[in-house]
Amino acid sequence: MDFSLDEREQDLVDLCRDYAQREIAHRAPLAWEEARCPTDLLREMGALGLLGILVPEEWGGIGMSTIGFVAAMEQIGLADQSVAAAWQAHATIGSLPLYLFGNDAQRERWLRPLAEGRMLGAFGLTEPDAGSDARGIRTTAQRRDGGWLINGRKTFISNAGTDMSFGVTLLARVESDEGSPPAYASLVVEKATPGFTMGPKMRGIGWRGLDTRELYLDDVWVPDEHLIGDPDMGLGQFLRTLEVGRISVAALSLSLTQAVLDMAVEYAGHRVQFGQPISKFQAVQFKLADIATELEAARWLTYRAAFLRDSGQPFQKEAAMAKMKASRVAAWAASEAVQIHGGLGYMLETPVARFYCDAKVLEIGEGTNEIQHLVIARQLGC
Ligand SMILES: Cc1cc2nc3c(=O)[nH]c(=O)nc-3n(C[C@H](O)[C@H](O)[C@H](O)COP(=O)(O)OP(=O)(O)OC[C@H]3O[C@@H](n4cnc5c(N)ncnc54)[C@H](O)[C@@H]3O)c2cc1C
Repeated sequence: MDFSLDEREQDLVDLCRDYAQREIAHRAPLAWEEARCPTDLLREMGALGLLGILVPEEWGGIGMSTIGFVAAMEQIGLADQSVAAAWQAHATIGSLPLYLFGNDAQRERWLRPLAEGRMLGAFGLTEPDAGSDARGIRTTAQRRDGGWLINGRKTFISNAGTDMSFGVTLLARVESDEGSPPAYASLVVEKATPGFTMGPKMRGIGWRGLDTRELYLDDVWVPDEHLIGDPDMGLGQFLRTLEVGRISVAALSLSLTQAVLDMAVEYAGHRVQFGQPISKFQAVQFKLADIATELEAARWLTYRAAFLRDSGQPFQKEAAMAKMKASRVAAWAASEAVQIHGGLGYMLETPVARFYCDAKVLEIGEGTNEIQHLVIARQLGC
């Protein structure tokens, strides 16, 4: 199997490397420190075409392959994880429900500004009482006056509350016939809709630049044009969207692992103890060799999942494997890299500490790793 990049993909990677090193690497840490979403950077990324990376040109994007997206993510995430997290949430779960399941009028109205980088997209699934168990959501959408009346609450929703946010595509439970299984609809709620409010930006231990909030929906009415597809297809749409999101979180995890590996190699090469650089100690060398090997294994799984999607083959199992493996490697590698830095690695003045804080959520977001186990086991016939 050949995962080498074609010319267009390679050009994109070069552009991302340049931009990430020139702009993101020195501007994003300040936003992390101030716990502020750096929409200035996201707007610039929009101008470079990156916000519509997976959306075809016809709808304002650049129509990049999934492999190209993964390779580009490796460059952006190397510079900063919050920016890369906001970008990946926008480009996958924030935009794809509209592209994959919306009609042309909806794509024109909401997807185009997202893909052209003028607005930021958000995906509203999780609720205080329903995370892993998506079927347990309580937000309801009732047919009313030629539209939908939405009531409920969402939590941990990324990208909904910035000065670039357009609103949210959310999942709500709709009334189904007695005795039938519950039905779920995807609906677009724009930011200024009466009854739609948000809590303050939540404070995570990492991804501090990412805007994540609670959303409140009190008698929010939207017309029928805001319904994406059939009113009973929403859950399937959301779950399919998450499959792509998992490849993207896997790619983000690769970038984190590469970042901490580079930092650890560099530090070990110049930190002297017992009269020699600590990289001369076999215990340190083994840690670095293990990280490099695990990173390569995770990289192959991730590129393979991307390759399967690009070639129109089923990729659900592989996306779950990639996400599970790559995030686990990232969280472990970040801890090992801090260990190699000793006390300095614990201090937030050192970049490796910031990446360590950013690592844990990779095992939680877009389906916890326990849920990835379930997805894989189900595909094995269990
Ligand atoms: C920074 C951040 C950003 C996020 N952004 C978004 C977003 O933009 N949109 C959105 O909709 N959501 C978002 N989320 C929510 C995220 O997807 C959920 O946190 C995640 O799916 C887990 O749900 P939960 O937190 O309710 O945990 P729970 O589902 O309550 O799980 C708690 C624990 O129980 C385990 N568990 C649950 N069920 C099982 C089972 N059947 N078998 C074994 N173990 C199980 C879980 O693995 C976990 O360890 C975000 C979360 C974070 C932290």
